[in-house]
Amino acid sequence: MKKHIEEICREASEAMVRAADNDALAKVRRQYLGKNGILTGEMKKLKTLPVGEKADFGAAVNDAKTRLEEVFAEHRDRLERSALRKRLEEEAIDVTLPATKIQAGHTHPVTQVMEEIQEIFIGMGYQVVEGPEVEYDYYNFEALNIPDDHPQREEQNPLKINENILLRTQTTSVEIRVMERQRPPICAIASGRVFRAQEADRNDLPNFHQIEGLVIDKNITFSDLKGTMASFARHMWGDLARVKFRPYKYPYNEPSAKMDVSCFHCGGKGCPVCDGAGWIEVLGCGMIHPKVLAMSGIDPDVYSGFGFGLDVERITMLKMQISDIRLLYENDESFLAQF
Ligand SMILES: [Zn+2]
Repeated sequence: MKKHIEEICREASEAMVRAADNDALAKVRRQYLGKNGILTGEMKKLKTLPVGEKADFGAAVNDAKTRLEEVFAEHRDRLERSALRKRLEEEAIDVTLPATKIQAGHTHPVTQVMEEIQEIFIGMGYQVVEGPEVEYDYYNFEALNIPDDHPQREEQNPLKINENILLRTQTTSVEIRVMERQRPPICAIASGRVFRAQEADRNDLPNFHQIEGLVIDKNITFSDLKGTMASFARHMWGDLARVKFRPYKYPYNEPSAKMDVSCFHCGGKGCPVCDGAGWIEVLGCGMIHPKVLAMSGIDPDVYSGFGFGLDVERITMLKMQISDIRLLYENDESFLAQF
């Protein structure tokens, strides 16, 4: 009888070790050790045995049960370890694989250029000032020596809110506000949006950005203006950038000029970017008209100053070599991502 139990135990052990997974293993355990299992059935035979054999047989069955439970536990652990190993292998990260590129946003090209220009002037000691986009006619035109009948009013096509209030057409309006608020020496820049009632085409938009600069103190001359602008150009377009001034007429500046910079693409030899001229117009500037100083309460006999203004989109187009200003505002990600 004992041999028979040994036989069952060996059979059961082999079946357990062969089990490929936990389910198969549990099935074998039920088959031998379960309520209706083979070994449990053997135990039931105990009562039919002669008294002298009962103790030995019972011990043999219990011993077989204990050993099988041990085999079961061992093999269960082995299966769990191998399952874990397999999972770790599957989940392993190959650190040598190239990374997925993260699509990060970036500053808009117009903002990039605006910040670059601001940084240059901040580096020269300029203070950054602000003015309102909804402005009085007085600050936008009248105080800038642009009276009611002046042709520049029509040229700039203001978007009017009423007789006295409009959306500013130029950041020059901030100059007046600064002059009213501060006493010289003044050294400030203002940047922001300006608005004009004009159709969007390749060169113009109804809404664009300007940067305005203003310097007022005793003994400020046109040479100071020229030196400042030349220094700005070298910071902006490199050490080889040269500037030249062409006479122009701004009502609020006397004398006033347009400034050209030597073409930063061809260095002045002539190319499609500069239309073959070797020079590119970048800004307007001039000495502040004595009348404008006086209107803002600054004595033109004591103080003098200069101002300059530039269109940020124009500089951006030149820098990025874009021929249509509208491209900057179409929000085409693939276009903007280039910059
Ligand atoms: Zn050129």
